[in-house]
Amino acid sequence: MDLKVNTHRHRSWAEPWRVKMVELLKMTTYEERKKALVEAGYNTFLLRSRDVYIDLLTDSGTSAMSDRQWAGMMLGDEAYAGSENFYHLEEAVKKYYGYKYLVPTHQGRGAEHIISKLLIKQGDHVPGNMYFTTTRLHQELAGGTFHDIIIDEAHDPENEHPFKGNVDLNKLDALVKEYGAHRIPYVSIATTVNMAGGQPISLANLRELREYTRKHGILIIHDMTRVAENAWFIKQREEGYAGKSVAEIVREICDLTDGATMSAKKDALVNIGGFLALNDPDLFDRARNMVVVYEGLHTYGGMAGRDMEAMAIGIGESVHDDHIRARVGQVEYLGNRLLAHDIPIVKPVGSHGVFIDAKKFLPTVSQDKFPAQALAAAIYLDSGIRTMERGIVSAGRNKKTGDHNYPKLELVRLTIPRRVYTQAHMDVVVESILEVYDQRSRIKGLKMVYEPKYLRFFQARFDSLS
Ligand SMILES: *Cc1c(COP(=O)(O)O)cnc(C)c1O
Repeated sequence: MDLKVNTHRHRSWAEPWRVKMVELLKMTTYEERKKALVEAGYNTFLLRSRDVYIDLLTDSGTSAMSDRQWAGMMLGDEAYAGSENFYHLEEAVKKYYGYKYLVPTHQGRGAEHIISKLLIKQGDHVPGNMYFTTTRLHQELAGGTFHDIIIDEAHDPENEHPFKGNVDLNKLDALVKEYGAHRIPYVSIATTVNMAGGQPISLANLRELREYTRKHGILIIHDMTRVAENAWFIKQREEGYAGKSVAEIVREICDLTDGATMSAKKDALVNIGGFLALNDPDLFDRARNMVVVYEGLHTYGGMAGRDMEAMAIGIGESVHDDHIRARVGQVEYLGNRLLAHDIPIVKPVGSHGVFIDAKKFLPTVSQDKFPAQALAAAIYLDSGIRTMERGIVSAGRNKKTGDHNYPKLELVRLTIPRRVYTQAHMDVVVESILEVYDQRSRIKGLKMVYEPKYLRFFQARFDSLS
């Protein structure tokens, strides 16, 4: 028998896996949630997981591992030195990402710490396609000053530019003219840009950046936390890439950069782990020496052998077209349903979550009353769904003036863990957001009553203004 192959007919993004084991969820009452929220100081980071129904706090370390990864866990070689699993991981990093040298770390920020300390001198300047919280903090602690060189479109939630992660080379050139290339050790490039709403950078832009930085002797350090998701968007949106596989595009991205920091808790489908990857043998030598001070020996870097094995397998699974199509497809499903109800979200829908524009959702709450923080609290109160703030609280304070940084984007992030929740869960999320939208006039904002010095969004506490 024969059928015509019709590649034009739409086929849904349905998951390329089936469920083998389930984890039961707890449903809570309104009173229980109210009590939990007050105890947590209106900060969703301070809620206990047992009080959460659908957890969209983060896609970090929350993925479901495959049966193959779990089988790999049983092959953990828990030797202090020279674990077999390290060599499997090294092979996977070389094969799928193409970097020559691997320094394992306990998670992404461990790698950021090492590369910042190695490359940044006091008074240096580090441009990047928008900041990330831990990345920027490590750059600052090493004596550097971060500069945002992302295109202006990235700061406008309404703008539907297909590559809002792109770098504005004029902004970079202005920095080079002002400070001199010798004060700019590297450009920090994220794929996809988390803080812009999971927005990709194009290969055309990255190529131009490579040319420019080569001319000026500046390195590119790649925050490759979501590189496979970025590659998927390139395949969908960039001319000439529709016929390439995600794996091929991932390699092309990595090949344009000098080294990378990886939070394997995202793309690479593990619950803990990360690494620094480099191409320069001398820099690698220094990094491998430094890792023993802060993380662990250079063949485990803070991870158990079994975690390295699961990561090696997860990296291979993460660059499959079928996996990424369903992963991003689920996020787009949620985003499109919210858009159909005119809920203000960042457009286009990003790779790892849907970002609600809290300034538009709560137009009467001024930014110093933490609208996104208040909205995340209200969503939890309504349904037990946990989201997080990405706005003024996350942006922290200005290093010099001590005042709040007032970011243009004031967002609530609904982050989708990989391979964890179903389409029906996404429908419940939509129902809850619509309920809170109907009652938005009751949300008056929050007052911060406790503020930690570093990365305040994790542990700050608030009181309700209503
Ligand atoms: C999560 C994340 C990091 C930090 O990684 P951790 O594993 O949480 O330490 C760095 N950059 C980006 C873009 C991230 O999303």
